[in-house]
Amino acid sequence: MRPFDYIRAEDPAAARSAAAGSNAAFLSGGTNLLDLMKLEVMAPDTVVDISRLGLDAIEDDGDGLRIGATATNSDLAADMRVRKHWPVLSRALLAGASGQLRNKATTGGNLLQRTRCPYFYDTDTPCNKRTPGEGCSAIGGETRNHAILGTSDHCIALHPSDMAVALRALDTTVEVEAADGTSKSYEMDDFYRLPGDTPHRETVLEAGDLITGVRLPAPKGDRQIYRKVRDRASYAFALVSVAAVIRMENGRIAHAALAFGGLGTKPWRDPDFDTLLTGEAPSRALFDEAADVLLGRAVSHGGDDFKIPMARRVLRAVLEEATQ
Ligand code: SF4
Repeated sequence: MRPFDYIRAEDPAAARSAAAGSNAAFLSGGTNLLDLMKLEVMAPDTVVDISRLGLDAIEDDGDGLRIGATATNSDLAADMRVRKHWPVLSRALLAGASGQLRNKATTGGNLLQRTRCPYFYDTDTPCNKRTPGEGCSAIGGETRNHAILGTSDHCIALHPSDMAVALRALDTTVEVEAADGTSKSYEMDDFYRLPGDTPHRETVLEAGDLITGVRLPAPKGDRQIYRKVRDRASYAFALVSVAAVIRMENGRIAHAALAFGGLGTKPWRDPDFDTLLTGEAPSRALFDEAADVLLGRAVSHGGDDFKIPMARRVLRAVLEEATQ
């Protein structure tokens, strides 16, 4: 691990100012950052500890909920309001990582966790995300755990978060304080960037921008499911996951919001997919047509070919259960 300066920030303004204009990283739970620093995949000059800024509250916010950036994944999953009104989020959190990791991992850190592409972690192999312009070792290499939606010729890395998939289905916004003190709010789709030819830039955040929390609006559907298919029953990343938020009225789908993990370079949601389902009576033919819309845009790379039929089956099962 390379030497770095450690600063324990006393308030958000001090944290933003310590991180602005330098090769700095914010530290809270550290469950991904410290691994990356030990491997020298990330080598910040300055680490700004934001774990004591009082950003860990989970508070009622009108008919929604505001979740502080340093609220832990364990506390969020166990919150009775989340379990009752946004159960898809609680289930997604409990499907991720291990109990020990969830006790340390935070909401903001979970949003910013890096891909688990093995080449990204192996500094002996070229990787555009780690070192721009170097090349992508995954293209033509091992691709079992790579993305099939939103990829580019420069990077096919998968977004690893379960929590962010549920947050996308719940129309969450991400709240940020910029280095100059201005507040910003981003829809999840706008917050994450597609890799394009700059895969090292994964979000819209600039140096010194601090995630202060996320806001969950009132749930738009009472039928919520998180289904995750993975290689083993716990402590494994998704091969395919689906977060579904559905409301039925008079036998028809009145609201459909589905987001997908294990498929995209960011937590994936397709507005055409949701639109196709909305207002329709559930049927096998409808679900298959929706899967065609979603997966017709997929590009697989050999090792991840299996994800297309797997996603189709998981999607059909989730929709059947949610619309019964
Ligand atoms: Fe790097 Fe992305 Fe290629 Fe993986 S897929 S080697 S993260 S550029």
